[in-house]
This record gives sequence, C-alpha cells and structure tokens, in this order.
Amino acid sequence: TSRLSGQTALVTGASRGIGRAIALRLAREGAHVGIHYARNADAAAALAEEIASFAARPFLVGADLAEVSAAQSILAQVEDKIGEGAVLDILVNNAGHQLPEGPEADAETFDALVAVNLRAPFLLTQTLAPKLNDGGRIVNISSGLSRKALPDAMLYGMTKAGLNHLTRSFAKEFGPRGITVNAVLPGIIRTDMSAWVNRPEGAAIAASRSVFNRVGETGDVADIVAFLVSDDARWVTGECIDASGGQFLV
Ligand code: NDP
Repeated sequence: TSRLSGQTALVTGASRGIGRAIALRLAREGAHVGIHYARNADAAAALAEEIASFAARPFLVGADLAEVSAAQSILAQVEDKIGEGAVLDILVNNAGHQLPEGPEADAETFDALVAVNLRAPFLLTQTLAPKLNDGGRIVNISSGLSRKALPDAMLYGMTKAGLNHLTRSFAKEFGPRGITVNAVLPGIIRTDMSAWVNRPEGAAIAASRSVFNRVGETGDVADIVAFLVSDDARWVTGECIDASGGQFLV
C-alpha cells in the first residue's frame, strides 16, 4: 500500500529496535522517512540504504537527545534535508533508554532518564510543531511500565507516565489544527533494550507474560503506529494504546 505517499515522517531512535521497525513500516507505506540516531550512525546509514532500495531516499538526522540543544539541532537538520519551507506530517517520539535504577537511585540517574525519555519528546514536539502540517500525526512510544509499579524500574516508569500526560496535553493543544497525538505502550519487545529475551529461558518468561504466549516483536508495535498515523485513526487522539499482547491484563 502507499497510504502515506507524499507524506514526510521523522522517527527518533530509528537506528535500532522499535524505531527501526517503525521507520521501515512508514517507508513501505510510501512516506519519506527521516531516520534519527544518536551513537549508531552506521546502523542508521544501513537502514537508509535498505529503505532506499524500495522507497524514495530517506534522510538522516543525528543528535544526542540527552542534550537540551538536540531539538534545535534536529529542526535545523530537518530543514536542511527537506527544505526550509517544507513540512513534516508525522513525528514519532520513539527514542528512549533504561538505566540501572530503583528506589535508591541518585539524582544523576533521575536526570538522565528524564532528559531522554521525557524532556526530549517535550522539547522536540514543541520545536517541530510549527513545521508540522495541519492534520498531522504525533505518536509517542511510552511503555506498559507507565502503569505498573515496578520499584526496580520506577524512574523509567515515571518518565513514561509523564509521557502519557504529555500526550494528552498536546492532543488538546494541537487538536484545533487537526493533529492527533497518541501514545503506544509496548510490553516486552525483543530489542537490545530487552536483550535478555534472546536467552532461551528469557524467551519463555517473556512469552508467558503475553496472553498469546509468544514474545513481542518490533513489528507488533510498528503496525499499531502505522494505524495511528493513517487517516483511519483521524478520530482518536490523546489515547494511550496498549501494545503488550495482553501482558498487563489483570
Ligand atoms: P533500543 O535500545 O533497541 O533502541 C533505542 C533507540 O533510541 C536507538 O535508536 C538509540 O539510538 C535511541 N537513543 C537511545 N538513547 C538516545 C539518546 N540519548 N539520544 C538519542 N537517541 C537515543 O530500544 P527499543 O527499540 O527497545 O525502545 C524504543 C522505545 O520503546 C523506547 O522509548 C523504549 O523505552 C520503549 N519501550 C521498549 C520496550 C522493550 O521491551 N524493548 C518496552 C516498552 C517500551 P542510537 O542507537 O543511535 O544511540
């Protein structure tokens, strides 16, 4: 299909994992895709090559989202790549990280998690909003842990709960422009972030958490994002949509 043809998308953290799958999926739907990365420029370039084999040449955007200046840098790079007068149709705030943490975590860890998982989506959305087409789409990749109390990942969960709130607030703010803002909340997904899933015993544990008894894959999340950015999802905004295979059903 090419239901996104003529549209331009930017996916943060697209060098690996879920973001990579989202960028691929949007490109397959015909979007001109911006691949954002931080440390893994080679992986981002390899993805650009792969996309260029079947779609219009994607563009690369590099920035460390831990830096306050990242949003302005990304805006400048996007304008440089697509042209200053050109607009974006889709922004996917996917980049995020986890650190060893918990109830005893220090302020540095707190700040490092907030900076990338919460401050960056706020600043990037605020900075790119004027460039976003009316009727556009913003999707934030949150986490099922935003709704589950897990002390060893409490700061991570707090940043994602904040992202859910950001989603609802921006949905109201941008509604008059026809822009929808939604969050997708994955459960355990097989990526570098959940690398333990690749061990046989890890796979069994991860599979048993889902009511479907299999491990969640990046495509499971990318397909939901593809729906949210499509015209079919025009009447849903401010929602936090589970993408966990029923992991959090009680
Ligand atoms: P990965 O660790 O596989 O990939 C993370 C991506 O984010 C990479 O592209 C990385 O870029 C980018 N990134 C990380 N830190 C920064 C930074 N400081 N600045 C800019 N970019 C950064 O993660 P996943 O694909 O698993 O996760 C994607 C999103 O999904 C995250 O928001 C995560 O919290 C969320 N999520 C993941 C789950 C899972 O089980 N995997 C479950 C629930 C939510 P680079 O490699 O170039 O440095």
